[in-house]
Amino acid sequence: MKNIIFIAPPAAGKGTQSAKIEKEFKIPHISTGDILREKAHEDSEVGRYVLEVTTTGGLVKDDIMYQMLEERLSKKDCKNGYILDGFPRNVNQAEKYDEILKRLNQELGYVIVLELSEKTLEMRITGRRVCENCGLVYNINTDNMQPKVESTCDKCGGRLKQRNDDNISSFKTRYQVYLEKTQPLLDYYKQKGVLYVVNGEGSVDEINQAIRSILMEGKNK
Ligand code: AMP
Repeated sequence: MKNIIFIAPPAAGKGTQSAKIEKEFKIPHISTGDILREKAHEDSEVGRYVLEVTTTGGLVKDDIMYQMLEERLSKKDCKNGYILDGFPRNVNQAEKYDEILKRLNQELGYVIVLELSEKTLEMRITGRRVCENCGLVYNINTDNMQPKVESTCDKCGGRLKQRNDDNISSFKTRYQVYLEKTQPLLDYYKQKGVLYVVNGEGSVDEINQAIRSILMEGKNK
């Protein structure tokens, strides 16, 4: 399986789609946001820095990202492909990623972008809930993504909570950062001939189907 990069604005459903593709194609899902949320628990200078930046919705310094990413991609489970969710987020990171790929003898693979309106994103961000025990993601504003019992994980019974950056104020910053810094990546990857665009407004299953058809038949380029 080729490597996959997901690019999308905040709360577009990258994490949900990545988790499905991880299961279906048996390749690891690497979320830089998840790695950083772990780091933010550390009682260290870097931990405190990461907590502050991620809570307010800015971007963590590139150098910290590169080191974390290369370490993760060097692991054995990435040899047969992986899903990158949340990286690269700006053109500098994309250029650095090209260098990392060369060093690891890996190929770029597919770059899949999910497109959604700002209105849908706001609805998704205020409805997102995450199980604090197993990490499963729900959305109380989206059909078929609500938990069966309020605030409780269907899978493990854990408590559902809101991410501390899932509020309208942090969303506004994250969305602005996406438009200014991340969207220019679409041209970067279009020129390399690896960009695929998916309409992210549909149901989880419809979007999954569109992604699967790209991975299996190279559609939607
Ligand atoms: P996400 O879970 O992808 O929405 O990421 C949550 C937060 O982690 C973002 O708002 C950023 O503060 C930070 N973050 C994640 N990935 C990156 C990255 N590639 N570069 C810089 N900051 C990042």
